[in-house]
Amino acid sequence: MVTPARGAPYVSLVLLVVVMVTLAATGVSLPPPPRGTAPTGPASHAPPPAGPGLVSDGSSSLPPGRTGPRSPDGDPAHRPVPGSADEETPARQGPPAPVRARGIYLTSHVAGIPHRVQQLVNHLGATGLNAMVIDLKDNSGTVPYPLPVPLLQEIQAVQPRIADLPALVRDLKSRGIYLIARIVVFQDPVLARARPEWAIRDHQGRPWRDHNGMYWTNPFSREVWAYHLDLAEQAVKLGFDEVQFDYVRFPDNPRRVAETAVLDNPDGLSRTQAIVTFLRLARERLAGRAFLSADVFGLTTTAADDLGIGQDFSAICQVVDYISPMIYPSHYYHAGIYGLPVPEANPYQVVKRALQDAKARARGTRATIRPWLQDFSLRIHYGPAEVEAQIRAAHEEGIDQWLLWNPANVYTAEVDYRAGLPGPAPANELGRVLILEYHNIGAQEGRWTRTPASFRADLERLYREGYRLISLSDYLRGRIDVPAGFSPVVLSFDDSSPGQFRLLEPGQEPPPPGRRDRPPPNPLKVGDRHIDPDCAVGILLDFCAQHPDFGRAATFYVLFPTPFGQADCWKEKLAFLREMGMEIGNHTLSHASLKRLSPQEIQRELALPQARVQEVLPGYRMISLALPFGEAPADRRPLLAGEHEGTTYRRLGVMLVGAEPAPAPASLAFRPDAVPRVQVFGQELDKWLSFLARHPQERYVSDGNPATLSFPPALADRLNPQSAEQVK
Ligand SMILES: [Zn+2]
Repeated sequence: MVTPARGAPYVSLVLLVVVMVTLAATGVSLPPPPRGTAPTGPASHAPPPAGPGLVSDGSSSLPPGRTGPRSPDGDPAHRPVPGSADEETPARQGPPAPVRARGIYLTSHVAGIPHRVQQLVNHLGATGLNAMVIDLKDNSGTVPYPLPVPLLQEIQAVQPRIADLPALVRDLKSRGIYLIARIVVFQDPVLARARPEWAIRDHQGRPWRDHNGMYWTNPFSREVWAYHLDLAEQAVKLGFDEVQFDYVRFPDNPRRVAETAVLDNPDGLSRTQAIVTFLRLARERLAGRAFLSADVFGLTTTAADDLGIGQDFSAICQVVDYISPMIYPSHYYHAGIYGLPVPEANPYQVVKRALQDAKARARGTRATIRPWLQDFSLRIHYGPAEVEAQIRAAHEEGIDQWLLWNPANVYTAEVDYRAGLPGPAPANELGRVLILEYHNIGAQEGRWTRTPASFRADLERLYREGYRLISLSDYLRGRIDVPAGFSPVVLSFDDSSPGQFRLLEPGQEPPPPGRRDRPPPNPLKVGDRHIDPDCAVGILLDFCAQHPDFGRAATFYVLFPTPFGQADCWKEKLAFLREMGMEIGNHTLSHASLKRLSPQEIQRELALPQARVQEVLPGYRMISLALPFGEAPADRRPLLAGEHEGTTYRRLGVMLVGAEPAPAPASLAFRPDAVPRVQVFGQELDKWLSFLARHPQERYVSDGNPATLSFPPALADRLNPQSAEQVK
């Protein structure tokens, strides 16, 4: 017997019977039918708990202290925020921070049972998961807490299941958990029956029911939209980071709908237009306060049309922050899809192929793909191996966020949630460090120019391959602090060209959403001017915000009189870079080759920029020099320290132009007065990343402790004896 559900076109009769029996047993309560499978645990169809909710007595049953999740790489990317149980304000003030969410689903029943919530919080803490999806309105059309939406009371849609939802949200937020409110939209028996004029109706004018007996509201109805926008508003006020709409679609089996149902369509919209318009209104309503996501059928990633349900994958990607295709392998019934005779038996292949298609369709849109994966069993038993296979497939496709669905909220233990992620590689702190050197960021790729798209792709690749940003001064001081198994990378930018750091004109807004592949959620500003989202600083800060564990560091070798080309704001830019933790480096006064200058001339070339910088940043000392053209004088002493007209300088590092990864600070080859860099143009970065991937002995990999040195014994002859005492 096949018993598919939610993501599937057809819900089984078995499920329907379960739902109807429960309905009869509880009198009024219609608990959410599972969308993944028939329930396997006792909790999924339990009646609303009679006992107190999680925090009903005013104190949390969750233990205090740091139980917040860590990201799977072991880096505390999402630090738990301090929270207090007696706080009356919402958990968050201001916009949420983007997070790579890896999470689980909770029904409102389970969310109302303190020891179950505790178990799931523990599961997150133990595994590095960091997100929870909690039902705010489920398939029963009911809401688990009396929210101040008048229509909720009028249609009697409140079924108290969570004693103190605001306190629950605060509690979970204080543990650093990213919270998503799931709202089932157009399948809604309560609203459809209470307001038949807003429902899909049969030819007799009664609320229509689909082949599973479920009632639907009319996705063309602006009144139905307004109701759900009000619920989304409440989710934001409660402190949820994100609102996720499910059943944001027309009923499946469109032929049956066409033959038996009546849908008022006053605006004459297409199905896709209706869904996208609703989501766009939601985005406008939530803008800057919470992220918006939509659950869509798994097949939308691959289908040629909207599946007859209004879910056009690319169109939805234009209006949501996250899109969650429900790519449960068990819901691909049709033998032969992706060339697989039994898709359910090939979780890895199904997820991989579906996500490859999804990526192609999401390209150039604002949406991040965050699939729902299957942690339940249907015809074939799904254990750790099957769950892990899906996660590995996602990670291999570069998709590092996902949600696990289990209708009973019982999640498989012993799953390696890091499957398919790089590392942790064995430590090699005598390997080489990538110090990247960029020049122009501009429209035409060339010998001295990287396009914004290429720069973004560089960052993506570095991040994906286990590189984490460190500052140049940390490299020069031998203080490399990245998590165990990761490799450091330094970014440097020469010549302060306009494309590196450009501000838009006063009053000018960045391009509107939808026209860019990844617009910053909150456009960055210097003073009252926006940072051009296509300049290096805009791209870098946006990327670092999206990937908090990447770090944030770079060195800018500026040229005077006007670094970055905008005379009216270069001082503000330098101050901003410092505020952001970036470093300013010396690139001489006139970009002269120092090769043939006298020691006095060299000191003038190096001291005057120091004086200019200190006019803007009092007391700031540039600790590195990038040699123009990479050319150094025979006598290097004036490069490292000198004086001119009262301005002194002393530096730790002299950077070359090109041409290879730099030696580890603890290695004999390390020379602070001649530090090589990799110039990024054409295939240079690809060449070196591939080289370091193929030659682990050459790649610096951290042991996670900046105070100790770890490396393979075979490399011992590279060690600088001065660093020997740090050896583990
Ligand atoms: Zn230069």
